[in-house]
Amino acid sequence: MQNDGALHGTHDSLHDALKRHFGFESFRPGQEAIVRNALAGRDLLAIMPTGGGKSLCFQLPALLRPGVTLVVSPLIALMQDQVRLLLDNGIAATFLNSSLDPAEARARTAALLRGEYKLLYLAPERLLQPEFLNSVLAPLARAHSIAAIVIDEAHCVSEWGHDFRPEYRQLATLRERCPGTPMLAFTATATPRVRADIVRQLALADPVVHVASFNRPNLFYAVRPKGRHSYAELLATARDDAGAGIVYCLSRRRVEELARKLCEDGIRALPYHAGLDAETRRVNQEAFIRDDAQVMVATIAFGMGINKPDVRWVVHYDLPRTLEGYYQESGRAGRDGDRARCILYFGAGDIRTADFLIQQKVDPLSGEPLLEEQRMARQQLRQVVSYAESSECRRAIQLRYFGEDFPGPCNACDNCCEPRALEDRTVEAQQFLSCIARLAQRRERYGIGHLIDILRGSESERILSRNHHTLSVYGIGKHHSVEQWRAIARSLLHQGLVSEIQDGYSVLALNAESWAVLRGERRVQVAASRSVRDRAAAGPHAAAPADVDGELFETLRALRKRLADTAGVPPYVIFHDASLREMARRRPATVGEFAAIPGVGQAKLARYAEPFVAAIRGHLHT
Ligand code: ADP
Ligand code: MG
Repeated sequence: MQNDGALHGTHDSLHDALKRHFGFESFRPGQEAIVRNALAGRDLLAIMPTGGGKSLCFQLPALLRPGVTLVVSPLIALMQDQVRLLLDNGIAATFLNSSLDPAEARARTAALLRGEYKLLYLAPERLLQPEFLNSVLAPLARAHSIAAIVIDEAHCVSEWGHDFRPEYRQLATLRERCPGTPMLAFTATATPRVRADIVRQLALADPVVHVASFNRPNLFYAVRPKGRHSYAELLATARDDAGAGIVYCLSRRRVEELARKLCEDGIRALPYHAGLDAETRRVNQEAFIRDDAQVMVATIAFGMGINKPDVRWVVHYDLPRTLEGYYQESGRAGRDGDRARCILYFGAGDIRTADFLIQQKVDPLSGEPLLEEQRMARQQLRQVVSYAESSECRRAIQLRYFGEDFPGPCNACDNCCEPRALEDRTVEAQQFLSCIARLAQRRERYGIGHLIDILRGSESERILSRNHHTLSVYGIGKHHSVEQWRAIARSLLHQGLVSEIQDGYSVLALNAESWAVLRGERRVQVAASRSVRDRAAAGPHAAAPADVDGELFETLRALRKRLADTAGVPPYVIFHDASLREMARRRPATVGEFAAIPGVGQAKLARYAEPFVAAIRGHLHT
C-alpha cells in the first residue's frame, strides 16, 4: 500500500497534504475526524451544514488512498462545479454524465480503467446502468481499484427528504457488487428521520455517524419590518456590498418586477424561476456564478446545484414557508466562511398571503381541503412568524429547531447586537384577555382577527350579527392600529400568556397565566417594533479590515475575473475572496511569499504565482 504515513494520518502528514493539494491551512470543525475515519476504511454518514466543507472530507482521503473514489451526485451542475475546482488544484478528477458525447464518454471510461483518475463523479442512473456495472465497475472491483463509494447529497435517498430521487434507492445493490468497499454518505439535511433512512436505505455497515453543529458563525441574521422603504433598503444593500446576493420572493411575478426595478436602478440583477425556459435559467445562473450579474432575484426554484461559495448576502423579500427552508436558503450565503448577511423582511401582510395559500391546499380531484397538510403548513407558518417576531437570539431559535441547544447570545444577529426596547403593555394585554373572557362567558371562541375587530369597534356584519357590539370591551382599543394589536396578541402567545387551540380553526383561550395578568399579578412587556430607520440592525457592512489594501484587492479581483473568463470557469475556482484579501494584506512580492497565502496549494502556485505576483509588484511600484 502506498503512502503509508498519510494513511495512518500522522498529524503533520495530513496537514501537509491539506496544504499541498488544497492550499488550506487548517481543517474546518469535524473535517479531520471524518477524514481519519474515511482513511481507516469505515462506512460513514456525515451531516454537516451547507458550506461546512463536506467535499474535502472525501476528496482528501481519495487522494491518499490507492484506487479511484466514485462520487454519486444528483445534478450535472454540481459535478461540473466540483470537477472544475479539483482540476484547478491539479487533481485527476472527471465526471461521466449525459452532457458528454459518446466518444468523450468512451475516452473517459478507458482512462478510468487504466487507473488515471483519483475521483470520478457520476449520476446514480449512470452508475447503475448494466453496461457500466458489467464492463467498468466489475473489473475495477475485481482489481480492488475502488477506494470508496461516496454518496453526496445523500438525503436524496429518502422520500422524507425534499429532493427524493428513486434511483438513489438502488445504490444499496452496490454493496454486493463491491464487497468490502467503504461507502461514505454526506448530507446537510438535519432531520433525524432522514438520517435514519439514509443508513437503512444505503445499508451502511456499522457506520461512524458525524453530526456537526448547524451553527454558521459567519452569518449575520436580521429581520426587518416590511413596508414601502424595503425596496430602498434592498437597493442600499446591493450598492453597499458589491458582493453577490440572492433575493428570494414568493411569486414569479414578484421576481420579474423586482429584477427589473433593480436593473433600472443600475444593479446587475437577473430573474430566476420555474416559469422561465431551461435555457434562460441556465444562462442566468451561469452569469451569476461567473460574477457577470451581481444579484439573482429568484423563487425557491433557485437552490440546489448552486455551489457559489462567495454569496455575500441573502435577502428574503417575502416570508419563507418553513424555518428549515429559511435556514437552507439563507445558508447559501457565506459558504466560503467569510462574513455574510441574511436579512428577512416581514410584515403582517405576509401572514395573510401565507394563510390564503394554505387555504388553497385542496385535493385536486375532489376539491376537498387537505386538512392534515393545512394543519402542518399552519404550524410551520407559526414557527416562521414567531422567529420573525421574537426578540430572542435568532441563532438560538434556529438551532433549537434542529434540536441543538445554543444558549446565546450569538452577537451576530439583530436581536443580540441591538436589543429592542421593551414597552409595558399590561393595560392592552388586560383589555385583550378580557375580550376573550367575555366571549367565553357566552361559550364563544374566536381567533385574533375577530378579537381585534371587537376591541377596535368594527361595525362589520360579522360583529353586528353576533351582537358583539354590546360587549363591554367593544371599541375600547380604538386608539391602536390593527398592526399594533396583532403584535401585542402574538407577543402574548409567544410568552405563553394566552393559549391557541384548534376548534376547526385557530382560536384563543385563557390559561392560568392569562388570569394572573387579568388579576393584575403580572405585568406584560412587549418588544417595541423596530424602527424603520435603525439601519444598523441590518448588519455589519462587509467593509474590508483596515490593513487590507483596498485598491490592490480590486486590482486582484479584476485579474482573477480575466483569468477566469479566459479559462471559462467561475472566478471562485481560481481563488476565494479570502485568499485575495490575504494577498492585499501581505502583498507577497516573491513566489516563496505567495506560496504561504491560504488557498495556494501546489497546483495553484505553479499556475497563478506569476500573474498575481506581477500584479502585486506592479501595484507596489505605482
Ligand atoms: P458543503 O458541501 O458542505 O456545502 P463544500 O465542500 O462545497 O461545502 O465547501 C464549502 C467551501 O468551503 C468551499 O468553497 C471550500 O473550498 C471551502 N473549504 C472547505 N474546507 C476548507 C478548509 N479546511 N479551509 C478553508 N476552506 C475550506
Ligand atoms: Mg456539497
